[in-house]
Amino acid sequence: AASVEFRDVTKIYPNAKVAAVDRISLTVEQGKLVTLLGPSGCGKTTTLRMIAGLEMVSSGQILIGGEDVTKLPATDRDVSMVFQSYALFPHMSVRENVEYGLKFSGYPKKEVGERAMAGLQLVGLQDFGARLPSQLSGGQQQRVAVARALVLEPQVLLFDEPLSNLDAKLRRQVREDIRDIQTKLGLTVVYVTHDQEEALAVSDRIIVMNNAVIAQEGTPRDLYDAP
Ligand code: ADP
Ligand code: ADP
Repeated sequence: AASVEFRDVTKIYPNAKVAAVDRISLTVEQGKLVTLLGPSGCGKTTTLRMIAGLEMVSSGQILIGGEDVTKLPATDRDVSMVFQSYALFPHMSVRENVEYGLKFSGYPKKEVGERAMAGLQLVGLQDFGARLPSQLSGGQQQRVAVARALVLEPQVLLFDEPLSNLDAKLRRQVREDIRDIQTKLGLTVVYVTHDQEEALAVSDRIIVMNNAVIAQEGTPRDLYDAP
């Protein structure tokens, strides 16, 4: 796991009149789960996508593990992302979905299989490898997406509203699973949500964004106790 640092990062989309992210600086310590919390349109997803290299910064610098990755494309950054839509391949089995990302990693075939099974075990789906995604519940599908990201052992794991397609009960369950795995493996996680309760429940630290800037920052306790 590695730290993430933003130094004065700005993102202005082509033809936009205002910045989507406006000179933000932040640090995510190694092995911590930090949430970007704020209303729709405040710049959370843009921030996450810049960590992944899916959007390039307009100005400023991004460091991962102390290394300047500002100019590196997504494929050269050791980061993986879990989306709200799961983005599983419908025609592949659960196990093949988890193996897919590993196929290009250079591991021998046997190890790809072993790692995929270990990943499924981490999310409690070791008995579901042969099923198709459509034969799983929404919560289970999201766990597969988590396993697929985990097996790559990225330096940083990114979650973009991972619970928004789930009902209330599953939301609680999956968020607890994510937190358990993050703590157990010591992963660096950046987690985007607009849900304050969710942020308070899962985070080591919360960064509150509003209108493209950081409005507030602290531990759940700091923010909960704030007047
Ligand atoms: P505060 O300034 O809100 O009192 P502290 O510096 O005392 O916070 O840290 C409280 C907790 O938050 C500790 O577990 C610390 O490791 C964690 N923490 C502090 N800064 C960061 C950061 N930039 N990224 C991740 N975790 C952090
Ligand atoms: P959030 O994730 O907090 O909802 P976003 O980062 O998605 O916010 O969006 C921040 C701002 O950037 C919004 O005003 C949004 O309309 C704008 N934006 C997001 N993506 C694009 C894009 N690809 N092109 C132009 N504007 C965009």
